[in-house]
This record gives sequence, structure tokens and C-alpha cells, in this order.
Amino acid sequence: MQSKDLLQLAEQFGNPLYVYDAEKIQSQYNRLSKAFSKVNKLRINYAMKALSNVAILQLLKEMGSGLDTVSIQEVMLGLHAGYEPEKIFYTPNGVSLEEIEEVNAMGVQINIDNLSILEQFGTKYPDVPVCIRINPHVMAGGNANISVGHIDSKFGISVHQLPHLVRIVENTKMNIVGIHMHTGSDILDIEVFLYAAEILFDAAKNFKNLEFLDFGSGFKVPYKKDDIETDIEELGKKLSKRFNAFCVEYGKELTLIFEPGKFLVSEAGFFLAKVNVVKQTTSTVFAGIDSGFNHLIRPMFYGSQHHIENISHPKGKERFYSVVGYICETDTFANNRRISEIKEGDILCFRNAGAYCFSMASNYNSRYKPAEVLWMNGEGHLIRAHETFEDLLKNQIPLPVAIPTV
Ligand SMILES: *Cc1c(COP(=O)(O)O)cnc(C)c1O
Repeated sequence: MQSKDLLQLAEQFGNPLYVYDAEKIQSQYNRLSKAFSKVNKLRINYAMKALSNVAILQLLKEMGSGLDTVSIQEVMLGLHAGYEPEKIFYTPNGVSLEEIEEVNAMGVQINIDNLSILEQFGTKYPDVPVCIRINPHVMAGGNANISVGHIDSKFGISVHQLPHLVRIVENTKMNIVGIHMHTGSDILDIEVFLYAAEILFDAAKNFKNLEFLDFGSGFKVPYKKDDIETDIEELGKKLSKRFNAFCVEYGKELTLIFEPGKFLVSEAGFFLAKVNVVKQTTSTVFAGIDSGFNHLIRPMFYGSQHHIENISHPKGKERFYSVVGYICETDTFANNRRISEIKEGDILCFRNAGAYCFSMASNYNSRYKPAEVLWMNGEGHLIRAHETFEDLLKNQIPLPVAIPTV
């Protein structure tokens, strides 16, 4: 997308504003499919927690994508978007047996990640095809909050508990059709990923009725110029070969599944916000924008570095800025960032604003959540309206009785 289009959308729909480029999402989807074209049965399940707007779900559905969900509400949104239940995977962590039973009744593929629920579910529903989430204890992650394969992780059934897992499956006679792993975001090293895959292949040999192996996600995308990223093509080449060999060994052609979130939508997203105030202090120049971590929490939450551009005046002299939000506590988007000289009223554009940005937005400080626009065929389509005061009050109930004085 070009800056002039983004500026025009900010003008048309107001700001702060999230904009998503449909073509980028589609090209990422195709890139992943192509990298694994040597695998006969490939399935991509979009991990919708990254960006859950129904229009985005529909866009990916048109591409042939399935969905990876982590809550019953995500399942409901997926069904609402028109996904067949068979195209939806449910990979929760720490949810109740009741919720899992409810999702199962909807015809969605259940993925279980602990032995307690596995035993209870298997006893009650021995015939339901179930996938199990294995924790191979391989660190493929970047930030400690998003590496989920390590030994203290709450995710998955430890690969060291495999004997107990097999015993439960034998006792309940439940039907295990898939094995899953998701070692966390930001896979930098393909060898580490392949190593984890070997652990999954080994575990798979314990189960006779498998239909698929799900390798999760965690592909790293570039956040700035020359940033490192997962080499999808290289991973495709190496893992496809190994996967096909495993299928021969296993004696059956299995489906290879990935469930990317960030890879599909991160780079497609742009967050636009206006500069309210340029404030010189004794130590820095602050650019205070008309937004805060209520709209984009990743820099404060994970220390993420979102590239920031002054799209109103892109060709000015570069200066150093601290870009901050209006939330009344520390609310820093960027420190000491070189940005083309900022004037009050300029529109700043944050890159990589597709994944875990709007979906983590809140109403903190009683601010409205921004609108979302999908850019498709050279046109902006509003896919979520800006909130209004009614939205803030929507579920609040005035006290029906007088408040006693004390
Ligand atoms: C969040 C999540 C994903 C997506 O991870 P990305 O890093 O966004 O690609 C995939 N699988 C599961 C089970 C997840 O929880």
C-alpha cells in the first residue's frame, strides 16, 4: 500500500485507524502454500486470535484456509463467517471440560493439551476423533512471553509423559487422529524447528489412526528493514522432504497442517494515528499521538519494535523522537526513533499492525476502539465502525436502588 492511499483513508474514515491490505494477506497465504507444494495434503489453518475481524476470516476462507481457534467464541465467529465446522480446529489451553464438550457438539476438531482432560474426554467420548498437543520442549522462540515449548511451559502434554498418554489412549480406546505442536512465536532457526519435528514424528509412531500432523506456527516476519525472518521457502524444502519420507515410514499419506497467525496478517496491517502534540523536554522530543497502548499494546507488552513513518511529511529532515500515547501511565511506542520531522497534526503510520494489534485493543481510559478498513482492489472497505459512547455504556447497568450514605 502507498502512503497516499493511507492518508486518503485516514481522511475518509478518521483516525486512529487500522488498515489491512487484502492482497498482502493473500500473497502470504500463497507463499506458504507454494513453499509446501511438494506435500500432497497440505492444510493452512489461520490462527484467528491474531486478527479476528469477520471480513478477514471471510477473505482467508476464500483462499481455502481453515481456522485455528483458542476459545469457543472464536469458534462461533468462525462459523458465523461461514467456515464449515470440519475446517475449524480448536486448540485451547486451560479451558473447562464443559467448553470442550460444547465445541465438540458443534462438529469442530478438538485438540487436547493436558492429560486430565484427555482422560475425562476420552472416557466420555471414545469415538470422537481427537488431536493431542505435544510439548517437545524445544525453544524456538524470541521473546520469553511467547516461547511456549520450554520445560516450564503451561502448553501441551510433555513429550516425556508419552507413556502415560499412551496408557490413557489404550484404556479409554479413544481415537487419536492427529498430533500437534506449537513451539511459540518467532522461529528463527530452521534447524531447531526440524529438530522439534523429529520429536513429533517419533511421538506419532505411537498412534495407529493418525490422519494429520500439525506443526503449529511461530514463523517470524520482518519488523524493520533488513530484519531477520523465517525462510519459509527453505523450511518448505526441508520439512516437505522429511514429512513425505515420514509418511512412507508410517505407511499412510498424512495431512500436513500449519496454523500461522502473524505470518499471514502482520505485514498487511497499518495503524494510523495523528500527532496531537510535539513536546520538547530537557532530555527528548516527545511526539504524543491520538492513541495509546489501549489500541496497540505490543510495544509496551512485548517490547515490540513497530516501524513508524511520518506519512504526512515523509521527506523532511530526520530527527529523534520518543513516540508516546495518551494513556495515563507509561505508554511508549518507540524511544529515540529517527523519523522525518514531525509537525502537530501529522499522521504517523505504524507497520506490522495486522497481528495482535486490534485483537488486543481495549477500552482502557474509557477510549473508543478504532475503526478497521480492508483495502481491496484499490478501495477501502469499512469492516468495523469506530466505537461510540453507547458502546462504552452498552453492558453497564445503573444501580436500581439509592446509594446509602455512611
Ligand atoms: C497463537 C497461536 C498460533 C499462531 O502463532 P503466530 O506466531 O501468530 O503464527 C498458532 N497456534 C496456536 C495453538 C496458537 O495459540
